[in-house]
Amino acid sequence: MNRCTDPLHQLDLGLTWRNSFSQLGEDFYTPVSPQPLPAPYWVGSSRAMARELGLEASWLDSKDLLEALSGNCAIAGTRPLASVYSGHQFGVWAGQLGDGRAILLGETTAGLELQLKGAGLTPYSRMADGRAVLRSSIREFLCSEAMHGLQVPSTRALCVTGSDAPIYRETMETAAVLTRLAPSFVRFGHFEHFSYRGQLDQLKVLADYVIDRFYPQCRASDKFSGNAYAALLEAVNERTAQLVAQWQALGFCHGVMNTDNMSILGLTIDYGPFQFLDAYRSDHICNHSDTQGRYAFNQQPNIAYWNLFCLGQALLPLIVEPELALAALEPFKALFPREFERRMRAKLGLSDSDVQDPAGDRMLIQDILQLLARDGVDYSIFWRRLSHCVADATSEPVRDLFLDRSAFVAWWLRYEKRLSSSSPTQASGLMLKTNPKFVLRNHLAEQAIQSAKMKDFSLVDKLLTVLESPFEEHPAYAQFAAFPPDWAHSIQISCSS
Ligand code: AMP
Ligand code: MG
Repeated sequence: MNRCTDPLHQLDLGLTWRNSFSQLGEDFYTPVSPQPLPAPYWVGSSRAMARELGLEASWLDSKDLLEALSGNCAIAGTRPLASVYSGHQFGVWAGQLGDGRAILLGETTAGLELQLKGAGLTPYSRMADGRAVLRSSIREFLCSEAMHGLQVPSTRALCVTGSDAPIYRETMETAAVLTRLAPSFVRFGHFEHFSYRGQLDQLKVLADYVIDRFYPQCRASDKFSGNAYAALLEAVNERTAQLVAQWQALGFCHGVMNTDNMSILGLTIDYGPFQFLDAYRSDHICNHSDTQGRYAFNQQPNIAYWNLFCLGQALLPLIVEPELALAALEPFKALFPREFERRMRAKLGLSDSDVQDPAGDRMLIQDILQLLARDGVDYSIFWRRLSHCVADATSEPVRDLFLDRSAFVAWWLRYEKRLSSSSPTQASGLMLKTNPKFVLRNHLAEQAIQSAKMKDFSLVDKLLTVLESPFEEHPAYAQFAAFPPDWAHSIQISCSS
């Protein structure tokens, strides 16, 4: 018997559950229990996340929680389900998708939904196995918490549990389950699903649910002639523009920005073939399967806008007037560059209150990005070094990163002049809080994965430590802030997970 369906095996975590999504009714999901995972073990866990969830940290050492989060035992108060959604994948309508391997356990009264990713088959698994491999689960676990440390909106992760159960991808791998959390896992694709099927009552129920829980201000807005659905579209538009501006400033490439991987809350969601840039290349493609470069780094803002149009199209039956939908989408064009420039200025130590020549600042930003690209300079190391150089009033440690040093020095002189009105300590202080010392580079994740395959999980834990506070120096872990090794260039990350 599946112990998860046995009421005698319900684990009480001491949390209170509300499960608001399950109250929407079964047009939106199918109740489904996680499938047991044989002989699970802990791979990694976040104490910080447990605290935020209101879970005693000692649970993370317990066998009971290990079993429960591996799908071997039910959690009292939860109502496990897999939700249905559709989406556009690589620009093409893909029809029904849904939670093919993620099972939503429920929502705590603290407002966080808990999902087990890789917990087995659901009615939406299509031809796949409902599982996730250790490799991709470690990547998502670390990157979710890294994003949170970088103050980028993201789904969160509590832990990864692993098993020796074999899972076949390109080669034989092993299974893992990621416990992830978010206020909601609703995607653009949830709206597309009901809209494309003409299920307008369900579309309205979903939109009302999202507005009531997350965007109540949309009901009060008299913008768009009081049309709350247009206001919702505008609010999601704004959050998405801000999110992608943060990605671009940090050098984060998502890799699979399909509409089913776009959060209605503007969170980074569904970590697959993502990458933080090593050497700066504006047209970098991190997803080995993305042969056309649709999701190349510099395409992300355009793709976000394209996806927002899909959301607008899906909401149109509720918004009714196309002009209102267009008006709700329009602000992206001004908002994205404004947010991006603001974040890039902060990277340069330039405060918001001191912008006299926006065009001049824009040139300063564009020119340094061009120099970084031309010489293939490491993106994160450049910004962190620059932060220290400003405090020390010397350009040498950054200059040495460039092949064309004189071109850099010419830029530095312009930059020094622009900075002259601010205090170097203040500018450098802002920069050290903006330019992280630690990002989850592919090779770091890869090293943690290789060790974990040998049952050594210490690297997962150490990386989590630095990534949770990436602006701190962590002198004992300087190796995680070093240049990537040569083999890093040959890592190929595909959609396979
Ligand atoms: P992704 O590319 O991970 O965003 O997944 C796209 C769709 O495929 C979603 O509906 C997933 O739930 C589903 N999917 C991906 N991998 C699996 C798997 N191993 N088993 C079942 N469904 C999967
Ligand atoms: Mg997905």
